[in-house]
Amino acid sequence: VLPQGQFNWLVERLEGIVGKGWVRYVQEDLLAYESDGLTFERAKPDLVIFPDGTEQVVEVVKLLNSVKMPFTPRGMGTGLSGGCLTPHGGAVISLVRMNRILEIDVYGRRALVEAGVINKRLSDAASKFGYTFAPDPSSESVCTIGGNVAENAAGPHTLKYGVTSNHVLAAEIVMPDGDVIWLGGDTRCEPGYDLMGLFIGSEGTFGIATKILVRLTKLPQAYRTLLAQFRSPSDAARAVSEIISSGILPAALEMIDHVALGAVVAAFKLELPRETKSILVVELDGFDVALDRQVEGVRSICIANGAIDVRAAKDEVEREALWFARKKAFGSLGRLAPSYCTQDVVVPRSRIPEALERIYEIGERHGIRIANMFHAGDGNLHPCMLFDERSSEQVEAVIKASGEIMRMCVEMGGSITGEHGVGVEKRRFLRFMFSEDEIDVMRKVKAAFDQTGLCNPGKVFPNNGADQNGIQCARQ
Ligand SMILES: Cc1cc2nc3c(=O)[nH]c(=O)nc-3n(C[C@H](O)[C@H](O)[C@H](O)COP(=O)(O)OP(=O)(O)OC[C@H]3O[C@@H](n4cnc5c(N)ncnc54)[C@H](O)[C@@H]3O)c2cc1C
Repeated sequence: VLPQGQFNWLVERLEGIVGKGWVRYVQEDLLAYESDGLTFERAKPDLVIFPDGTEQVVEVVKLLNSVKMPFTPRGMGTGLSGGCLTPHGGAVISLVRMNRILEIDVYGRRALVEAGVINKRLSDAASKFGYTFAPDPSSESVCTIGGNVAENAAGPHTLKYGVTSNHVLAAEIVMPDGDVIWLGGDTRCEPGYDLMGLFIGSEGTFGIATKILVRLTKLPQAYRTLLAQFRSPSDAARAVSEIISSGILPAALEMIDHVALGAVVAAFKLELPRETKSILVVELDGFDVALDRQVEGVRSICIANGAIDVRAAKDEVEREALWFARKKAFGSLGRLAPSYCTQDVVVPRSRIPEALERIYEIGERHGIRIANMFHAGDGNLHPCMLFDERSSEQVEAVIKASGEIMRMCVEMGGSITGEHGVGVEKRRFLRFMFSEDEIDVMRKVKAAFDQTGLCNPGKVFPNNGADQNGIQCARQ
């Protein structure tokens, strides 16, 4: 904590760089930055700075270095692991003013964007030329491409098109000491170490991405989007494994269970038979002539696994309505409980039925209802724990249930996170997956980028002793 006089001096200098009104330090203003999408982790920053352009980011970072103040990059704060929080205090550097699409190169199939560009804005702009930015997190209408890079974000269409790292060619990075470097390149084979690959998924701990060169993907000629209704989540989960093992690769394969379905049906006015206890949204895309056979393949696998009905969206309006419901589905959980915590874990696809059974059992044992809606094709589960944040017993129960679910997934050969990152939430749980030697190598890589440790401290690594309560470490 800086003495008041030095703090005032710092604010004045920062305003000199980014302009008056673009530094927030009044306590009420800072409330909006004390958490991200994981709302029960809270840590208020000392100030929030809004640079507009790489040069301003450089000057800000150098000034913060000179007073040894830690800083944390932030996009739109939709992260779900507390990655943009400041558990050790310090500054948030918000990228939201840097939201220009600098170039769409249709012939080169790529685009150059500032880090604060909203994901869907780029896809909307590229769609006019028949292209899209393939990573499509359900938060696409609000999250930034810088945040996507930092978290290596995924989405429903990851099953066929891959994660963010498959779509980023290069990026301009302001290093933690203020140096500016470009990582990656616009060819497929860059010599030397793959530093771009290393940076993607580094959760804002290696520096600040300011410009990003992304690959654009041609929009498919045609789609078939199916809604398959099942009597139980395990029937639906078995169909998922069978569809993939049959050799059909849907663009997306999403599942919603019976707990979540009640809220989704009410919120989006879906008409489903009463006995529907789980649904799959299956999207097939590609050349029109090839799709009908695949539709029949998916339909017969679903029916063989007990589907009540499999129907196709009859036109683009119906297809969009279905995706709107899926992508906004998390919001509908507000109908079920005052708070929810979305876990993000992975199991091998074939073990989804067993994993779901055990998740329900864990929830029951801790007195927590758990709704599931997730990227089933990737085995990426999102158990949403429904609770009341005002009850400390319920918060404790959620923390315990989360730990058990993560351990179970690792024991099944899966992971403690599929797309939301480690952040502050899962620091302790890193040891479920990695030995001390492996974590030590990661620490050395972090130190190679960030020698002073000022860039987004308190994230990713277990903090011996201080975070024994795991998930609550941001409150230290
Ligand atoms: C309803 C909902 C649905 C979601 N669905 C998905 C989904 O389907 N798939 C998925 O992957 N995620 C999903 N998310 C999580 C989240 O939207 C993504 O992780 C997204 O990439 C975060 O972007 P952001 O701009 O909000 O980043 P923030 O939350 O602001 O930051 C996230 C991390 O990125 C770092 N960071 C941000 N900008 C930069 C930058 N320019 N340079 C370096 N580091 C930076 C931060 O320090 C932090 O560690 C969902 C979230 C919500 C609330």
